Amino acid sequence: MDQTVDPRAKSFVSVTTDSHFPLQNLPYGVFSPRGHDTPRVGVRIGDMVVDLTVLQEDDLLDEAELPYGIFACPWLNPFMSLPAEQRRLVRACLLRLLDENEPTLRDDRDLRARTLRPLHACELHMPVGVPDYTDFYSSREHATNVGIMFRGAENALMPNWLHLPVGYHGRASSLIVSGQPVVRPQGQTQPVEGEPPVFGPSRLLDFELEMGFFIGAGNGLGYPVPIDRAQDHIFGLVLVNDWSARDIQKWEYQPLGPFNSKNFATSVSPWVVTLEALEPFRCAAPPQEPAVLPYLAEGDRHTYDINLEVHLQAAGEAQPLRICASNFRHLYWTMAQQLAHHTITGCNLNTGDLLASGTISGSTPDSFGSLLELTWRGTKPLRTAGGAERRFLADGDTVSMSAWCQGDGYRVGFGEVTGTVLPAHLFGNAGR
Ligand code: MN
Repeated sequence: MDQTVDPRAKSFVSVTTDSHFPLQNLPYGVFSPRGHDTPRVGVRIGDMVVDLTVLQEDDLLDEAELPYGIFACPWLNPFMSLPAEQRRLVRACLLRLLDENEPTLRDDRDLRARTLRPLHACELHMPVGVPDYTDFYSSREHATNVGIMFRGAENALMPNWLHLPVGYHGRASSLIVSGQPVVRPQGQTQPVEGEPPVFGPSRLLDFELEMGFFIGAGNGLGYPVPIDRAQDHIFGLVLVNDWSARDIQKWEYQPLGPFNSKNFATSVSPWVVTLEALEPFRCAAPPQEPAVLPYLAEGDRHTYDINLEVHLQAAGEAQPLRICASNFRHLYWTMAQQLAHHTITGCNLNTGDLLASGTISGSTPDSFGSLLELTWRGTKPLRTAGGAERRFLADGDTVSMSAWCQGDGYRVGFGEVTGTVLPAHLFGNAGR
């Protein structure tokens, strides 16, 4: 089923040309009308949220033959687990119902009031129940920068890096939705090489500009996903900020990789953009040399052209400053390669699992996706909009990332993932 939408198609819901959420997008999220109601599944268009529970109750999605109550749910998971063809029928219904030439919703004032909620009157929730979270390390530029800083230019890339998408198993319990604050972690660090470690709040708190994809249909334990079927298992993408404590990371990461430096918070954007919506922005992925092993070789190697930005608003300042502009297309390892590699052992992925890209850096210094790189390990501090100096994040700082695809006269975007740093919680309060 062709899911690409005429770039000129419009909805009766007003959408500005720089909005991330025109008719062509229709991303899924979980919301509750502010105040009283229980969470349910919605779709964003312009600055409105479409309540899918109402559309289903009013029999307007019947063509898709959905299980009863599938949207009256605090997570997208039941919907995500449906066969892709069935999900595409829902998208087709929504494209028709929201089109400017379709009267069903447009001309029914009562139905429209029950279905379309202004975004400002909605609370947005974590859209997906995430059983497992994996974070890759798929940007060659990022891996090279970090390698140069920690091991020198000669050994920047580890010997395995060009042969497999490096990753680690992350922590799903501390995934949070955009807007939730991030408490500065405390832990062990070794401020002076060769000296004993010390304990305290992390002093080198950082962000990582990433994108992640959610698994739709999973695979059975023992059954690897062939690379050319990987796409069938991807539901959609979100922006990800993988908050990182660099001082804790440096002391703990050998020999088994990151642990406490990454497990205290990972933020995601609230709207999940489907592969169908991204289809017009498909583009070539970087060539790979040396050639990869056959299980990682793609018949149809591609990625997506997604502009990425990071803004930093320093504590006490009124204006944010753009500190990074990058693009998803720079990634050396594609989502299909990540998925094929993850499952090649027979590892089973479940509906709702999140696979994140790793920091997405480009080749120029203004495209680096972390403060570690932007300030080159703190040696080149940056100036904020209000003139303050930053090597790493201070309490009260707000980091906002945004992502969008630029079409001809419209955008398909992800909105924002944002978070403010709070001071460390010292012992004595269990937070419950
Ligand atoms: Mn990361």
